[in-house]
Amino acid sequence: KWVERTGPGGFYGVYLLFCTNPRFRGRVYVGFTVDPVRRLGQHNAGKRRGGAWRTSGRGPWEMVLIIHGFPSDIAALRFEWAWQHPHASRRLSHVTRRASREPQFRFHLRVLSHMLRVPPWSRLPLTVRWLRQEYRQDFLPGLEPPLHMPVAFGGIRKVKRGQKENSHLSQCFECREQHDGPPLRCFHPTCPTATHAPCLAQSFLQGEPEHLIPVEGHCPGCQNLVLWGDVIRHYHGCYGDLEEGPVSSSQGHWADDLQQ
Ligand SMILES: [Zn+2]
Ligand SMILES: [Zn+2]
Repeated sequence: KWVERTGPGGFYGVYLLFCTNPRFRGRVYVGFTVDPVRRLGQHNAGKRRGGAWRTSGRGPWEMVLIIHGFPSDIAALRFEWAWQHPHASRRLSHVTRRASREPQFRFHLRVLSHMLRVPPWSRLPLTVRWLRQEYRQDFLPGLEPPLHMPVAFGGIRKVKRGQKENSHLSQCFECREQHDGPPLRCFHPTCPTATHAPCLAQSFLQGEPEHLIPVEGHCPGCQNLVLWGDVIRHYHGCYGDLEEGPVSSSQGHWADDLQQ
């Protein structure tokens, strides 16, 4: 269970749709997905093709923003719910209600910026990704996402994985035991350190044992300070210029994907 909460999972995203139909223009919709491209197609195809009833017949919708990097589908679904119902969440009791002149889109960005700055979400290795440049807005001063959450631009595409040598862990640097699945690896070029996800999380959390998910720590091999989110993003193949590939349900589990 602990592994599920700290280890790298598949692609879990919470997105914001913007309605471009002139009759309903300005409406927004918050949803959860493991496959953003397919999900947007469903919304625009209507409810008989799997779209939500609130978006059915009101398209076309644009997916303008997605938050990804959640450690599990449950974590992402809780985030989705709070973003949809900010005034029902005690974590967001300081967020004022939408004034009638405040556009829905602005309001949802305001709620989002508060959400990213309060626990439990403020500790997650999330990425804030603008999918459509023309909708991009700056976060309000003082309400920017935490420094460990990158703000990214552009679509999400699948990354072909073929690094066989990355698929097997010879020995975990922390516990010295072997493991069947692919390890977390330090991304510093000359550092060979590989660990189990829970072992590295435990090492990073030595100073704050009350938490389950680390924010940053020193690589046990090269001692460089690294962000937990960067280690996870590196694991997913999207560190640097590469982009994260969503894992669609038809592709099976992420571990299968890595071992191809
Ligand atoms: Zn280990
Ligand atoms: Zn290292």
